Amino acid sequence: MGSIAEGKPHAVLTPYPLQGHINPLFKLAKLLHLRGFHITFVHTEYNYKRLLKSKGPNALDGLPDFRFETIPDGLPPLEDDADGDVSQDIPSLCDSIRNNFLQPFRDLLARLNHSATAALNPPVTCLISDCCMTFPIQAAHELGLPILLLSPLSAAAFWSFMHYRTLSDKGIIPLKDETCLTNGYLETKVDCIPGLQKFRLKDLTDFIRTTDPNDFMVQYFTEVSERIPRASAIVFNNFDELERDAMDALYSSSMLPSLYTIGPFPLLLNQSPQNHLLSLHSNLWKEDTGCLDWLESKECRSVVYVNFGSITVMSAEQLLEFAWGLANSKKPFLWIIRPDLVIGGSVILSSEFVNETRDRSLIASWCPQEEVLNHRSIGVFLTHCGWNSTIESICGGVPMLCWPFFADQPTNCRYICNEWEIGIEVDSNAKREEVEKLVNELMVGEKGNKMRKKAMEFKKKAEEVTSPRGSSYINLDTLIQDMLLKNT
Ligand code: UDP
Repeated sequence: MGSIAEGKPHAVLTPYPLQGHINPLFKLAKLLHLRGFHITFVHTEYNYKRLLKSKGPNALDGLPDFRFETIPDGLPPLEDDADGDVSQDIPSLCDSIRNNFLQPFRDLLARLNHSATAALNPPVTCLISDCCMTFPIQAAHELGLPILLLSPLSAAAFWSFMHYRTLSDKGIIPLKDETCLTNGYLETKVDCIPGLQKFRLKDLTDFIRTTDPNDFMVQYFTEVSERIPRASAIVFNNFDELERDAMDALYSSSMLPSLYTIGPFPLLLNQSPQNHLLSLHSNLWKEDTGCLDWLESKECRSVVYVNFGSITVMSAEQLLEFAWGLANSKKPFLWIIRPDLVIGGSVILSSEFVNETRDRSLIASWCPQEEVLNHRSIGVFLTHCGWNSTIESICGGVPMLCWPFFADQPTNCRYICNEWEIGIEVDSNAKREEVEKLVNELMVGEKGNKMRKKAMEFKKKAEEVTSPRGSSYINLDTLIQDMLLKNT
């Protein structure tokens, strides 16, 4: 095991291999690199190929002290993936992570340590992993290394899966039968999870909406929750004030290791000059940067930005309802439509829609979202409420129209609409009239005005906590000290 005296501390980071998990871990890697760490960032071979495709053959050259490595994901090639642009499905990934990732990762660590030299490639001093995977915890224990986990989820969503065992012991999950999904049962308040008393069952991670006692995702996360206490520390891409009740409950829990709230990552990163990091990318899709030029031509807060993230899918009918809701709102809009957004087919928008919106719309397949959300012309974000999108919207001070789809998105939506009051939820079967009405309410209505002000207040708080005297900034330094000290 290396010590700090031999050279730089060397962190090996393993993201859960999906876009919304890669991005925050990549930002954490940059933050640590800026504070003197040697970084090895480990992609799956599948994602590595996608990164090369989206950014070109030099995309992963890295820097002398920020390197990329790969391990296989153990999955067969996807059938419908001629373009290599498809998100892999979550149960298959989880299954393979559980069964196939540990050994190649052990081999990689052995190789890194075997070729270690103090100056160029210092010995590995700590592991950092997404909290949704356990193989790095095992590897860290085998090597006697500290292991830091990153929650790419809100603390509340993290806490809800940590309590799947409690929910099952109390007979809440599995649901008794399918009627529980529609008969109001999910409106029940969650009184058995400390810190989440304001949430309803329907606001928890949606994996609990199952009647199957052997549900794979519930089992997977229950298993994960049982290993998490063995980690050295957990970091969250949030700040205490954003999730006060949940964080208080987490801090007072005896089952968790040390916790550090160090978000929002984008703002913390902005505290340091990053020009030398410009060659480092984590986008699996090719970005259309023309969106930014288009936004330049628009008035302040005049544009509705629509993006459902990297995994959400919808029916062709639902897409049409959003399309006509946007068209009828008469507001300019920037809509990111991934090639695989529509279930079972490609996106077809009628010429009538195209003619109607041509002068005030731009459709692209992927964009530099953080820059978009920070653009002065964005008025509202129609979002699926992924945690990164939520945090990035707060960083931009942009109110949200929420269409949560699955996983932790209902929890984030509850925060946005009820706790923070910076957004409105659209029905899951949203019709064009509702979309039109809510877009207008948020863009020009009284409610929207109030929400925009609140969103700006959150943005200000986020800037404060990430400034050099702020809690997130200080917590990151403390975390580094704690982790480094543990290994000297
Ligand atoms: N993203 C992006 N461009 C896009 C769509 C998404 O850069 O056109 C990024 C976005 O900024 C965020 C991540 O992809 O960091 C999506 O993560 P999120 O947690 O919001 O949703 P998920 O994709 O995991 O459902």
